[in-house]
Amino acid sequence: MTGMVPSPHVMVQIDLQRVRANAQTVRRETGVPLIAVVKADAYGLGAQRVAEAIADLVDGFCTSTLNEAISARVERFGKSTLTIGPIAPDASAEQHLKYNVRPAVWDRETALRLRRAHPVLSIDTGMQRFACPREHVDTVLAAGEIHEALTHATRIEHVHRLLTIAGNRGLKLHAAGSALLHEPVARLDAVRPGLALYRGAARVSAQLVEARDSTGPAGYGGFIMPRHGVILAGYSNGLRPGPCAVNGTARRVIEVGMQSGFIELGAGDKVGDEVVLLGDDVHEDHVGASWETSPQQALVQLAAAGVRQYLT
Ligand SMILES: *Cc1c(COP(=O)(O)O)cnc(C)c1O
Repeated sequence: MTGMVPSPHVMVQIDLQRVRANAQTVRRETGVPLIAVVKADAYGLGAQRVAEAIADLVDGFCTSTLNEAISARVERFGKSTLTIGPIAPDASAEQHLKYNVRPAVWDRETALRLRRAHPVLSIDTGMQRFACPREHVDTVLAAGEIHEALTHATRIEHVHRLLTIAGNRGLKLHAAGSALLHEPVARLDAVRPGLALYRGAARVSAQLVEARDSTGPAGYGGFIMPRHGVILAGYSNGLRPGPCAVNGTARRVIEVGMQSGFIELGAGDKVGDEVVLLGDDVHEDHVGASWETSPQQALVQLAAAGVRQYLT
């Protein structure tokens, strides 16, 4: 996605009330503290604005790095921020404390160095990235005087493994991102969702600049369609072929060029009509499945495709 440019012709509307409602739903349905993941600029929705919108509903925030936490200005809310990514070798405990950031650590040296910043142990339960192998858990816990542990869990077996390794030790534990919120056993002492906070909150749209009855095989590959239109968003803006909606009907982005996309149209669709690329009935999950990737990727990519506007 690096190198993508937002199209000035694509509107990205962010519904902060929807983010709030999603956070309230997560709280109600899980009944445990909520750590809101606002990494990657809150999945492209804008970390500062998102954090402001939900600060009173959450127990803490989570970013990848200290720098992300600083630029999201999350220390304003007096809640701690967990970082889950690699730590700069020169980052001190004082810097972390200044911004109320608690780093996840997974090796003895870092745990020792950042001990005063109340680090959290990241335990490897299968992901094999940014996490401590089982055999070093005791050493790292002791080095950092650690009372809290997490794992990056995307499947329930990751949670079972966490409990096997770190259960019954009096540690505060958390594991669940969005994929495991519905699993009571995964909720532990807190949940850590990103996507579940953002579902339905970004509406990405563009207007038809052309609309015509097709006269034969069209586009790059010669697609055959009774009627098609064009929007000013293409692969340089992160758009890919997949689902969309035009005038309330499910349609397809048929083919994309550098800065334009071909859209399947119905008889009544005309120039100026709005093509919804995400939002309304076009869900992150549908787009992600159609792109053969995750809903998170579909969201981040489409949220970056145009010009952001906030609905408050
Ligand atoms: C990104 C991330 C999450 C949130 O993931 P979602 O699937 O978007 O809820 C939780 N935990 C870790 C360690 C992550 O990296």
